[in-house]
Amino acid sequence: MPTLNVAQIEQTLDVTCDTVIRNEQYFSDLDGLAGDGDFGTSLATGFKVIKAELPGMDKSAVGAMLLKLSMLCSKHVGGSSGPIWGTGFMKAAFVSKGLEEVTYDQLTQMVGAAVEGIMARGGAVRGDKTLLDALIPIHEKMQEMDGSDLGAVLAAVTAEADKAIDETRTLVAHRGRASQVGARSANTPDPGIVGVATILYDWCKHYGVDYKPQAAELAR
Ligand SMILES: [Mg+2]
Repeated sequence: MPTLNVAQIEQTLDVTCDTVIRNEQYFSDLDGLAGDGDFGTSLATGFKVIKAELPGMDKSAVGAMLLKLSMLCSKHVGGSSGPIWGTGFMKAAFVSKGLEEVTYDQLTQMVGAAVEGIMARGGAVRGDKTLLDALIPIHEKMQEMDGSDLGAVLAAVTAEADKAIDETRTLVAHRGRASQVGARSANTPDPGIVGVATILYDWCKHYGVDYKPQAAELAR
């Protein structure tokens, strides 16, 4: 069974930083359709700090690196995203505390813990048109698969996030800043869901995993 070590997770985080930084304007434009237009800048501001600090982070264990990542998100990612992403990485860090590499089952538990932490932190549930509408089906898909082929898992979870863009498009947001504009959020994609899907799709491209995007925001 394949495992993931600290160096592999670090590389994946570095790819994630590049994705977030490159999409700063696009993610803010999406947020501007129904929210306050700060999502891309909030995220990119934090991930520029993370990109710079990544090489010097404590790599003694997956959990140690993710805990530092969590603190940097909480401190430097702006808006409502900072505490949400910070909580997700903190819960994943607790599961991977002291582990130099994680098994697929542990990785699945890390995602599950992140989902529970984000739900508790933000008070959102499935269907509220937040990034949880991508993360919950991703966790379920991971539980269904055996993890013997990580490329197949990556393609499958990217498909879940991709589907979530269109499945939630016509919903009205109930949580986060977009909820304050009520009906104006209907028929616009949730930037958090697009963000998760874009990060996963870029992981596919980086690791040579074939994936054909469906939602317009991913296929652009
Ligand atoms: Mg916003």
